[in-house]
Amino acid sequence: MEKRPNLAGLPSVDRILNWPGIAALADRHGRAPVLMAVRDLLAEVRAAAQHGGPLPALDEATTVATIGTRLNAQAASRLKRVFNLTGTVLHTNLGRALMPDEAVAAVVAAMRGAVALEYDLDDGGRGDRDDVVTPLLAELTGCAGATIVNNNAAAVLLALNTLAQQHEVIVSRGELIEIGGAFRLPDIMARAGCRLVEVGTTNRTHLKDYAEAIGPKTALILKVHTSNYAVQGFTASVPEAELGALARERGVPLMVDLGSGALADMARWGLPREPRPQDAIAAGADVVTFSGDKLLGGPQAGLIVGRADLIAQIKKNPLKRALRVGKMTLAALEAVLQLYRDPDRLAERLTTLRLLTRTRADIRAQAERVLPVLQVALGAHGDVTVEDCASQIGSGALPVDLLPSAGIGIRPPKRGGGRTLRAIEAAFREATVPVIGHIKEGAFHLDLRCLDDEAAFVAQLDGIKPAP
Ligand SMILES: *Cc1c(COP(=O)(O)O)cnc(C)c1O
Repeated sequence: MEKRPNLAGLPSVDRILNWPGIAALADRHGRAPVLMAVRDLLAEVRAAAQHGGPLPALDEATTVATIGTRLNAQAASRLKRVFNLTGTVLHTNLGRALMPDEAVAAVVAAMRGAVALEYDLDDGGRGDRDDVVTPLLAELTGCAGATIVNNNAAAVLLALNTLAQQHEVIVSRGELIEIGGAFRLPDIMARAGCRLVEVGTTNRTHLKDYAEAIGPKTALILKVHTSNYAVQGFTASVPEAELGALARERGVPLMVDLGSGALADMARWGLPREPRPQDAIAAGADVVTFSGDKLLGGPQAGLIVGRADLIAQIKKNPLKRALRVGKMTLAALEAVLQLYRDPDRLAERLTTLRLLTRTRADIRAQAERVLPVLQVALGAHGDVTVEDCASQIGSGALPVDLLPSAGIGIRPPKRGGGRTLRAIEAAFREATVPVIGHIKEGAFHLDLRCLDDEAAFVAQLDGIKPAP
């Protein structure tokens, strides 16, 4: 005969809830989550017994420990802070740009209190949320109008849908980009209700290609900055100034999707040049779109700047209501744009730019400081060396240009092989504040360019122990 598990000895939910250790957990986490955890645990025990397994221990000490661990895990944020030592400064999967203190303070203030988001303090009437940043964008880019949406993908979608729905949009075959995360220009065009008219070839497109494609159904000429790749060799594309002149002559607006869109001249800090919205506008672009959290160094947002009449049309599109940003985004964006008014101090104050402009010597010195602590923490699990490396700007910005940087390479002991290397990577990933690096050519690499909080990094190294 089958032996029935003996569940009679299981404590009741009420009895468990009355154990002092459990009552203490309820004080900390609340009664409801504790009750749920107790019920879940009892259900697991019963299920295990039903399957003939050994009855897990349900004494007070074990139960308090198990439930305490589970509740702590549930209460921990899933949006964990990490150390981005990947070598990619604007890392999309790690949240892109880091906000300067001015932006953080502005967001906190906007979160805590009521703000004049859509309220005109001069006459007490209704205001427009875009006006929080429109004057700043007008000053910085020379635009007549501006509107802000959730991200640049939304900006492109909204602008296309407003200006060219059921009409043709002319784009060079060399600019039909795909950005990571399923942003493909032809798909966005289709969703915006536009008909894509491709001109030129993959490597060469000429002004006459655009001119010949303009017809009665043309609503827009679109130029897209090929931000995440570079076509090299026998190439030709049409500069914005020439396209702008053609657009004006034929009465068709020119839209430029810049992607990253640096507001300052990056060459000033020895960084590769990136096209700026003010240059596109000066060259005759009628509408320009760019991201808030790429090189701009602000919050996730899509900025649309340009001709007043076209921006007004875009703002009237019902999709704008679906794509608009909230007060926290506008607060952060305004604070970041304010920093651009003083380019002389921008590299100290704008976090992204400060990280991008760190010299190899500075980063190397930091690596030398961190190295001994890291070697002690790893012991025999890895050999640690300071090494030169190259950072990437990331987020599709300036893809072919690398920044001279430095960091630490960790090599597993000879016999360990690939398994040990992955164990080292995992140990860093499982740290209190996870450390994200990358494996390449038999070593785990940490690029220290973005190591802002050196003290916190060093303080937790002691706990990093790769599994043998
Ligand atoms: C990054 C990028 C986008 C998308 O911008 P998000 O802010 O990520 O939505 C669109 N177009 C170009 C050219 C880009 O580089």
